[in-house]
Amino acid sequence: MELGNQRASGNVEDRRGMGMVGGGLGVGGIVIAVIAYFLGFDPGTAINVAQQVAPQHDARQAPKGTPADQMGQFVSKVLGSTEDVWGRIFEQSASQYRPPTLVLYDGQVRSACGMGQSAMGPFYCPNDEKLYIDLSFYRDLRTRFHAPGDFAQAYVIAHEVGHHVQKLTGSFRKLEQAQGRVSQAEYNRISVRMELQADCYAGVWGHHAGTMKQLDPGDLAEALAAATAIGDDRLQKQTQGRVVPESFTHGTSEQRVRWFKRGMDSGRPKDCDSFSTSAL
Ligand SMILES: [Zn+2]
Repeated sequence: MELGNQRASGNVEDRRGMGMVGGGLGVGGIVIAVIAYFLGFDPGTAINVAQQVAPQHDARQAPKGTPADQMGQFVSKVLGSTEDVWGRIFEQSASQYRPPTLVLYDGQVRSACGMGQSAMGPFYCPNDEKLYIDLSFYRDLRTRFHAPGDFAQAYVIAHEVGHHVQKLTGSFRKLEQAQGRVSQAEYNRISVRMELQADCYAGVWGHHAGTMKQLDPGDLAEALAAATAIGDDRLQKQTQGRVVPESFTHGTSEQRVRWFKRGMDSGRPKDCDSFSTSAL
């Protein structure tokens, strides 16, 4: 990526090295379980973790701004790029984009959706509109999932920002409304549609990053490698040795790649409607 001229976002909360801090207001265990399932982590475990540890208020403030270290600078610029792109897109439809906060943490983190752990991978909490990432995930992406490269790292942020866009546009509500009212299999099907839409939104950002000359040749391949590596079918094969489509919450590698490319090709969020199509 070429982020030299990109404005770094100041919406980064650096909780690295602070242990467990941060205020939580309520438990949205089920939500965190679904959106955190990025690494083949068992959603059931995430729910338990979220429910066992009730969030408490912690008055210690994490510094918010732009971290000075290299990785901190990189994620701040990627976040800044998503703010610029989504800001313009929202403006075109006469609405205003409310940017999310990106929280950097080590090991464990308290969110308004319950406890987060690095093992869950990056996640978005709709209750506090923050995306949480332990940067050690990038090492996993490189070594465990064989998806190296800065654009693969940026894609991960853009995907979580995609969930934030869903919160702002209301599609997140589809998942919340289904909670406890439909069978687990049906709930998972809605979750897959949510995730594919977030992948497509990540592609929409990628499209505009390309127009802003922020992409290098080979960047697209990096994102596709990442999308392939984190498909449910691929992850299940790796972690359980078998594939159980009914338990998919994110979509297959092929689907994730296809929806990402769809957004990347068109650059228009309306082409990301994974909810009204019968062919995912
Ligand atoms: Zn997701």
